[in-house]
Amino acid sequence: MKLYLVIPCYNEEEVLPETASRLKEKMTALTEAGRISPESRVVFVNDGSKDRTWELIQALHKEDKLFRGICLSRNRGHQNALLAGLMTVRAECDAAISLDADLQDDINAIDEMVDKYAEGYDVVYGVRSSRKKDTFFKRTTAQGFYKVMRAMGVETIYNHADYRLMSRRALAGLAEFKEVNLFLRGIVPLVGFRSTTVSYERGERFAGESKYPLKKMLAFAFEGITSLSVKPIRMIATLGFLIFCVSIGMLIYSILRRIGGHTVDGWASLAVSIWALGGIQLLAIGVIGEYIGKIYLETKARPTFLISEYLKDEDSYE
Ligand code: UDP
Ligand code: MG
Repeated sequence: MKLYLVIPCYNEEEVLPETASRLKEKMTALTEAGRISPESRVVFVNDGSKDRTWELIQALHKEDKLFRGICLSRNRGHQNALLAGLMTVRAECDAAISLDADLQDDINAIDEMVDKYAEGYDVVYGVRSSRKKDTFFKRTTAQGFYKVMRAMGVETIYNHADYRLMSRRALAGLAEFKEVNLFLRGIVPLVGFRSTTVSYERGERFAGESKYPLKKMLAFAFEGITSLSVKPIRMIATLGFLIFCVSIGMLIYSILRRIGGHTVDGWASLAVSIWALGGIQLLAIGVIGEYIGKIYLETKARPTFLISEYLKDEDSYE
């Protein structure tokens, strides 16, 4: 099996040499054990780095054909860089594993991913078994992230980042998703096919600093929700409906008060109209939003189906 590793790199000059040597060791061991083909490669995607990352990748490629490099025209962010790498190599390999340049994701899980691929799985998600090494802050924010995503109607794999193996046909399926707003870990489950998980310990970054500060993480979560789910729109409609119900309650209450003669002139009509108008307006916005949501999903031009198997007579015409 031809395995490609795809690694987005943004200002990673501090970690690249070490990463390259560790990966080379891993790939050599797997090749010698006969588990992957000698034509397997490690592909670095330079995401518009401002430091010497690309020079380092060029040097690695010159020295050893195991290493390849793809240079993006400018910085486009982790998700885009990853997709660029996967889509560039997808026709050449049998399966590709995406991982980060800092090797925080234990590379020993690659063995298990390869085993799962051999068992016939198309997608193998790397899942963090514990977050002992993360700070309390990172751990709680990250876990909150998955919960909020789920509540907002985005299906993601719990504790899975972008460390995963995808077979050639899963990659072909992914290529059918023409999304511009990319949130890969929400899209891959939509691609489907047989999938499983492999758990690993997440380590610390061994050099350099995180390129994902809290601000980027929040933006990422927001991106994930708004690009995969129309649930926020539904929430507006629901709220409108609830307020409208309250207004009916208010209507009855005001009439009773009026009949009882406990009201100042004009109070009843004012109170009811405030509630009713607010409710109807929100409800109307929600309904319009629902159509905008539909337009939004249509413009994504997602595939309506992907076929995983087709059983037919062997002698049927192709
Ligand atoms: N990265 C990238 N483009 C960016 C930001 C990050 O390609 O604009 C890459 C980075 O080089 C690394 C991966 O994305 O390989 C994950 O980044 P990082 O390790 O900083 O994130 P963290 O592990 O702290 O969440
Ligand atoms: Mg990292």
